[in-house]
Amino acid sequence: MKSAPFDYVRPRTVAEASALLAQAGVNAAAIAGGQSLVPMLNLRVAQVDLLVDLSRLDELKAVGETSENLQIGALTTHAAIEDGMIPDPFGGLMRRVASTISYRAVRNYGTIGGSIALADPAADWTGCLIALGAVVRIGGRNGAREQAVEDFVQGTYSTSLGPGEVILGFDVPRSDAPLRCGFAKVARKSGAFANSIAYVVVQGRGGLVTVVLAAAAPRPIVLAGAARHLASGVDSEDALRAAVADDLKTYLPDADPYETRLHISTVVRAARDMRTQT
Ligand SMILES: Cc1cc2nc3c(=O)[nH]c(=O)nc-3n(C[C@H](O)[C@H](O)[C@H](O)COP(=O)(O)OP(=O)(O)OC[C@H]3O[C@@H](n4cnc5c(N)ncnc54)[C@H](O)[C@@H]3O)c2cc1C
Repeated sequence: MKSAPFDYVRPRTVAEASALLAQAGVNAAAIAGGQSLVPMLNLRVAQVDLLVDLSRLDELKAVGETSENLQIGALTTHAAIEDGMIPDPFGGLMRRVASTISYRAVRNYGTIGGSIALADPAADWTGCLIALGAVVRIGGRNGAREQAVEDFVQGTYSTSLGPGEVILGFDVPRSDAPLRCGFAKVARKSGAFANSIAYVVVQGRGGLVTVVLAAAAPRPIVLAGAARHLASGVDSEDALRAAVADDLKTYLPDADPYETRLHISTVVRAARDMRTQT
């Protein structure tokens, strides 16, 4: 199948893009890498009268680094991150995550902004950026605003983006202490969307620990009990399994025993991976 006909514009400023999107409302969509939107249009799962191509917006391409954070433009592709074209002061976590997204052909065009805007529950960047404490920068007709990625992603394909708003980029905070980051992903086949993804981020020895589980619920889950266990310094995988099981009873009460075992083992593997990062 091919998409229904639509008009196409390629604005040069964020203000112009926002105005066009706001004016057309639900009949318009922004397009970045097109790796999710084009198949959806072709399958007619989505239908629009106007496509607003973001590819000329330089503001969405900016990448920078300060002592406080890493700034990543929304149009940064998965491949650019995989190839180390942007700094990764997070123990290489972002490069590793990028390299596992789908196939290289998708990574060449797919963008980090498009991934977060789509908010697919099984996407890789959402959980990663939440684990790293990232903030999303958003531009619209009424100026710019910022929001923690954890609050921005609200559920399956649901975010706080309002009419005419576009994601400009992300600020990922740098830690004063050296970070140790672990990551594990289970998918039925290489390149497919995951069934379970876990991220463990530890700031220094004895510092803040964050554990995030993705592809398990409509939005990634921050596992407080697992984080407390890892922060305690007790080196016991059985105790970690028990802590994750308790977390899952709270956050995923309806999970079946197979899903529960899968998610527990993914978190345990992410914690092992973190321990290998010295
Ligand atoms: C075969 C296949 C396998 C895949 N596997 C995975 C996988 O394993 N893990 C994974 O994470 N992803 C996977 N993806 C998705 C891929 O990562 C997409 O690139 C990504 O989800 C969307 O990025 P995009 O730039 O292509 O966005 P587009 O397809 O252009 O847009 C997606 C949505 O985001 C909106 N949007 C895009 N950019 C912005 C912006 N800056 N501001 C506001 N709204 C915006 C669009 O309006 C649209 O609704 C897969 C895709 C394919 C085709």
